[in-house]
Amino acid sequence: MSTVGKDLLNIQALSKLGYGMYIIGSRKGDRLNAQVANTLFQITSQPPTVAVSINKSNLTHEFIHESGVFTASTLCQDTPLSFIGRLGFKSGKETNKLEEINYRLGETGAPIVLDNATSFMEVRVVKEIDMGTHTIFVGEVIAADVVSEEACLTYSYYQQVKRGTTPKTAPSYVMEKKEAPPVKLAKYRCSVCGYIYDPELGDPESGIKPGTPFEQLSDDWTCPICGATKADFEKLEDQ
Ligand code: FE
Repeated sequence: MSTVGKDLLNIQALSKLGYGMYIIGSRKGDRLNAQVANTLFQITSQPPTVAVSINKSNLTHEFIHESGVFTASTLCQDTPLSFIGRLGFKSGKETNKLEEINYRLGETGAPIVLDNATSFMEVRVVKEIDMGTHTIFVGEVIAADVVSEEACLTYSYYQQVKRGTTPKTAPSYVMEKKEAPPVKLAKYRCSVCGYIYDPELGDPESGIKPGTPFEQLSDDWTCPICGATKADFEKLEDQ
């Protein structure tokens, strides 16, 4: 048996934890908001209790804190990056994130997002745990249903297969990752959300075939996650 040194702290170890991808909705009076979160988990089955960790700088945090209610929708594996981008990388402080999104109000008045959902639950907060940058909201599930039997989107599928990115406010955000081995065509990074356009892979969701250089993308091409323009992309020098 080997022992681990006391000073060994490789934060990358935490990236091996498994998560799902969820839309968390809440309200404050008549105002509604929703955001993406990966840190939702079940705590007990009787009564059915879940918890979610939310960054204090997010508008949804203020709404959950004020109203004491939130909803959660589990997402299907085919959820488009643009849908996650709209709810995950835009702030509800500036835009109405729920515009053009299919949702209905639950019995608590909080919005339940139905687009791309495989299930939803409505939760009444019973406890808040202050964790510095984040608050853990613990709550009892008061309503829930399954929407579809499609496979659910996991955080690792989102990151590794769909190549989605994570905002700095997410609990699981880790600093800059090392990029894959050198390639001939230059990669470009979105300065808004961190998405990396890799010409080897193209952007299939926008109809861009693998092998298309960034320079050949049309001027109206936008970031598949956050919708930023081509001009918002920076060439990755170190590859
Ligand atoms: Fe982007």
